[in-house]
Amino acid sequence: MCHVLNHLVQQSAPAEGPGRRHLLKTLGAATAAGALLPLAATGPATAAARRHRTRLVLLGTAGGPAWLDGGRCGVSSAVVYGDRVYLVDLGHGAMHRLVQSGLGAGDGLGSALTPVRGIFLTHLHSDHVADWPALFATGPANIVGRGAEPIHVFGPGDRGVLPAVFPPGAPAPAVFNPERPTPGLTAMTGYLGQAFATDFNGRARESGFTRPDDLFSVHDIDLGGVWSVDPAGKPPRLESPLRVWEDGDVRVTATLVDHAPTAPAFAFRFDTPDGSVVFSGDTRVSANLIELARDADVLVHEVIDPRFVDQLAAALPASQREAMREHLLTSHTTIDQVGRDVAEPAGVRQLVLNHLVPATNPARRWKAAQKGYSGKLVVGEDLLTLGVGRG
Ligand SMILES: [Zn+2]
Ligand SMILES: [Zn+2]
Repeated sequence: MCHVLNHLVQQSAPAEGPGRRHLLKTLGAATAAGALLPLAATGPATAAARRHRTRLVLLGTAGGPAWLDGGRCGVSSAVVYGDRVYLVDLGHGAMHRLVQSGLGAGDGLGSALTPVRGIFLTHLHSDHVADWPALFATGPANIVGRGAEPIHVFGPGDRGVLPAVFPPGAPAPAVFNPERPTPGLTAMTGYLGQAFATDFNGRARESGFTRPDDLFSVHDIDLGGVWSVDPAGKPPRLESPLRVWEDGDVRVTATLVDHAPTAPAFAFRFDTPDGSVVFSGDTRVSANLIELARDADVLVHEVIDPRFVDQLAAALPASQREAMREHLLTSHTTIDQVGRDVAEPAGVRQLVLNHLVPATNPARRWKAAQKGYSGKLVVGEDLLTLGVGRG
């Protein structure tokens, strides 16, 4: 059916113009009525995983902003529940991987975002949000078949204070954007509207495209009464998780993880009637995260290889060496720690490693995380699909 519709578009309407717009609107109505069914994922998913109503799809598994040739895109994942898709983080290449995953309708008309209900950004480091500007700018062209409901986007608000300079006493570097030096997600998105104004105003006038600020409903996660972020960025121990969103059967909760001095940094938990998936975001070993992940079916956790940190530090100028070592080893979780000190005490059934630093390590190096962990260890790969809970 899809190729017939594609043929119809090509035959009956020019690449742009009112005829094409009318046909795309008609197609949208048809899909909303269920006439077009999503195709199966085209990645290396097993047939068994695809039979699960709740699934985890790893879109990108590389950590850090460096571009390394490990066959991995920047960190990003999808939780699938029936015909609904929720994205966690948007590292570089996330949108490309989303298309490759086949989670959209696969009709060749730009439907990658059609099933996406929500997007959850763990923190505002560039390796987690690099594709957010691209998605905000081009999203309206990738929602063929989608209804009018916006995609809800959740992430950190303005931390309100700059992090401390390291090492203590070092001269403070010049501040970017001094009138608002720590914008949160909504303020950042406001700046995107300014940056892409030429394109947005042009397309709105020329083609009647959906405005990005109509497509995306952006929310800063409220920390009121929980924490005022300070320069050290060490989060408090939370007594209970933060409620983020309930979308029918899908409940999303969060906790504060320890990525100090970067803050706030969140971990997210998704509970469906079938099971649970938890995403660590970037963090050192975190008691809040262990609590959030208690008895989860799947914990997707970041990991760093300390040997790489030593190699990288040795290659850097002396002036950067200690600050880089300090950041990498005190705000991330090592191979030795992630299974033994996080997954085991949390009692999770399956530990999936993502945000691999470096992205170029062989899988056998990451498998050392099994030591001290009695559950199943999976070294993440881009486009890997795993069934969650009951099939
Ligand atoms: Zn990161
Ligand atoms: Zn980070």
